[in-house]
Amino acid sequence: MTRPRWTCRTCNTVNPGHVQTCRGEDCLAAAAARRTNARIAVNTSWARTPIRSERTEAARRNSPGRLEYWIALLRAEGVVSEADIPAAAENARRAYMGQLVKKRGTKRATETS
Ligand SMILES: [Zn+2]
Repeated sequence: MTRPRWTCRTCNTVNPGHVQTCRGEDCLAAAAARRTNARIAVNTSWARTPIRSERTEAARRNSPGRLEYWIALLRAEGVVSEADIPAAAENARRAYMGQLVKKRGTKRATETS
């Protein structure tokens, strides 16, 4: 079986693999510089954020641990009537939490055996 190969358009280094991450010296240095700049940018941005919880609110609202997530999902599915959505969302959230507990249980069981 032939392994996939690709040539970097920036430095012309021939690299192996499906994921096009160049191992050329210049490109590795450029990637390191990008990471450094990104780290500076994100820390500067967070340093200037007046209310941190406000910035992360959207992400928390869209997480399956929150009821709002399930309300929006059920509404989008359009199966449950509008009047029953709050109760159904609570069930959906409980089912999700149950799945987490179950997953944790099976993970523990396989780790200890
Ligand atoms: Zn390259």
